[in-house]
Amino acid sequence: MDDLERLAADIRRADTVVAFTGAGISAPSGVPTFRGDDGVWEHFDEGQFTYGRFQRDPAGFWADRLELQRAMFDGEFEPNAAHEALAAMGTDGHLEAILTQNTDGLHADAADSVASDSSETTLLELHGNARRVRCTDCGRRIDGDPVFERAADGDLPPTCDCGGVYKPDVVLFGEQLPGAVIQRARALARESDVFLAIGSSLVVEPAASLPRLAASPETTVGIINLESTPVDSAADIVYREDVTTVLPRLRDVLEA
Ligand SMILES: [Zn+2]
Repeated sequence: MDDLERLAADIRRADTVVAFTGAGISAPSGVPTFRGDDGVWEHFDEGQFTYGRFQRDPAGFWADRLELQRAMFDGEFEPNAAHEALAAMGTDGHLEAILTQNTDGLHADAADSVASDSSETTLLELHGNARRVRCTDCGRRIDGDPVFERAADGDLPPTCDCGGVYKPDVVLFGEQLPGAVIQRARALARESDVFLAIGSSLVVEPAASLPRLAASPETTVGIINLESTPVDSAADIVYREDVTTVLPRLRDVLEA
């Protein structure tokens, strides 16, 4: 039995399978990464995108944010084979939850494209969703496109019907991760029988601690990432391969 067959067997036996994903799952879709060579922060000043700046100078923040969004999300990104394999595992009943650090919304797109009401996979976007905005007064969340258009036309900062300022629905630097979401993510990690960490360097929180919370003698921890991570030694199975190769193969083995 090879590693993938062992992992598939553990997944079939498991009550709770949790996938945690980072930028590495969206890179094959062409979504630029924030860090590293030619990352977004090589071209933009991180200091202009803090929560403090948003509060002090929402109009200036929004003007810069639009440029950042144009650089990051211009062009239509599509879910890739890795997103699709996870979505399919969800409809097959093999995946309890996806916890993601990504704000690109591609897991939700992939779930829509397998177009099934039978998927019961919970999606927790730990850092929010850059394609949405949220009113800082009434809390209303809406699709960002019409708001981005208004802002691009000079309506700065864009505001809600209630008069509150809209904020990109993402966690900014200097802003707390939403406590309830993080608690839920931690609970799912602890509860998991199989925990897969996918396309994340597992260095920053909460990425660094979730697989460690999951790790126990009864839990299978799998890591799929092109580079080594500090958690590799605590994992049962490590694939240093492309996520778009490993996950479709895993799904095939599960189907076989
Ligand atoms: Zn409002």
